[in-house]
Amino acid sequence: MNNALSALASQPSLATPVYFYDMDLLDRTINAIRQAIPSDSFHVHYALKANVEPLILSRIAQAGFGADSVSGGEIRMALDAGFRPADIVYAGVGKTDAEIDLGISLEIGCFNAESVEELAVIAERARLAAKKVSVALRVNPDIDAHTHHYITTGLAENKFGISMERLESALQLVTRSEWLSLKGLHFHIGSQITTMEPYRILCERINSLQHHYASKGILFDSINVGGGLGIDYEHPDAEPIPDFAAYFNVFDRYLELRPGQELHFELGRSIVAQCGSLVSRVLYMKHGLEKDFVILDAGFTDLIRPALYGAHHLIENISSRSDRKAVYDVVGPICESSDTFGEKIELPETQRGDLIAIRSAGAYGSVMAMQYNGRQLPGAIFG
Ligand SMILES: *Cc1c(COP(=O)(O)O)cnc(C)c1O
Repeated sequence: MNNALSALASQPSLATPVYFYDMDLLDRTINAIRQAIPSDSFHVHYALKANVEPLILSRIAQAGFGADSVSGGEIRMALDAGFRPADIVYAGVGKTDAEIDLGISLEIGCFNAESVEELAVIAERARLAAKKVSVALRVNPDIDAHTHHYITTGLAENKFGISMERLESALQLVTRSEWLSLKGLHFHIGSQITTMEPYRILCERINSLQHHYASKGILFDSINVGGGLGIDYEHPDAEPIPDFAAYFNVFDRYLELRPGQELHFELGRSIVAQCGSLVSRVLYMKHGLEKDFVILDAGFTDLIRPALYGAHHLIENISSRSDRKAVYDVVGPICESSDTFGEKIELPETQRGDLIAIRSAGAYGSVMAMQYNGRQLPGAIFG
């Protein structure tokens, strides 16, 4: 068990459900990334959509990372947290005119465009604002990242990015427009990727694309390989800091960067997931006919990953002192059967009032919280 977390168990009046963030682990994770970066051409942007707690954002901004936003709201949050406009990139398949205008007026570093149609709109908004705008083209490299089908994004058949077939016309649109300046190519093949193989294949795809375009005289200032590095949801305390060295090494080894070319990464989950836990109190122990249920005061309104993707999170009882173990289904109070955090979970004998930690919840947890069933949003505390 995480020490900072077990210290919470001695706070009987703790208001729950609440997200607890281990800021020391966040700092160590950020430092590990900085130390693992093999060259000055590597730049890390934090994908805000994983977690937007202001304290977390400002720590990451102070570390010198850039920001990857997927909405006008996230662009504002990044600015408020201290990221410089030039270090903010803006991605997303459905950018509104108002969001594009916001990015243009703030002079953000780059728009990662996802379609030819969007490029035309960005060019038009840039003309109206009389400001030249940097764009990168998000290419769909058709790579199976072997992750959950809801979070694989690099296959030809999904909505993200520009297919290889349409890349040619997208590049022409950019090079011919007086309002767009071509910054580079952008890729993001999926999330919770736990082997390096998909990244090695991505490097090869990028190398051949670069060779192809170099022969036509088109060179890119930067290559952005997105994010997606996975974490260990089963054993969050074994290696709480992902192996960033192995990850960067794949790109260092297999990607042929051109002289002076920058390589950008957009990491979300791997930076913030392990530092966060959702802490909840046991409301009832319900003895069913075949199962014993632990009914928590947290539900999918606080952490939707298990209900949305069948995601697994380690569940711990941080207050029980019992040596006896029992097997439970751990569920929330929401009126939906999918409101289940885990089935057949072995825990120390559990009672009403115990505190339960749902681990590795720092990414895609609080940001997806909602108020269904008239519930309040979970709080946050930092240790
Ligand atoms: C979600 C997303 C990321 C971050 O993904 P993680 O799996 O959290 O690292 C990076 N880039 C883009 C374009 C994204 O949509």
